[in-house]
Amino acid sequence: MIRPHIPTSLRHVVTARAKHQCEYCLVHEDDRPESHQIDHVIALKHGGQTTEENLALACALCNNQKGSDLATIDLETEKIVPLFNPRKDAWTDHFQLSEGEIVGISTVGQATVRLLRLNEPDRVLFRRLLIEINRYPMAEVAD
Ligand SMILES: [Zn+2]
Repeated sequence: MIRPHIPTSLRHVVTARAKHQCEYCLVHEDDRPESHQIDHVIALKHGGQTTEENLALACALCNNQKGSDLATIDLETEKIVPLFNPRKDAWTDHFQLSEGEIVGISTVGQATVRLLRLNEPDRVLFRRLLIEINRYPMAEVAD
């Protein structure tokens, strides 16, 4: 995938705003082997812009799963469900933590958990290890 150039200053703003945590799975950048990435919430191909209002910090695992997707389909209802939008949605309105698992508590949350594979066994195990050493979650993500 071609990654658009993001000015360093903008990268810093987005990273600081997210408190260095992935805005989807909340893992801190220092706890991942590779740097977190700047995610276009609305991908460029859908007309999204490279602006603060459309950027989020995402770990490589979340960002790779998300790609340029904005939504997914609920297979039971066959309805299109938007993905969690860190710029518009409050994390705690859509997710809860339960022993390292990220539980979707809304259709948006459930769709996002599934599409981003937030509860792959190794990811849950990793978050449980972080909990044990008081590294997860690092800060409340209220806004
Ligand atoms: Zn993540």
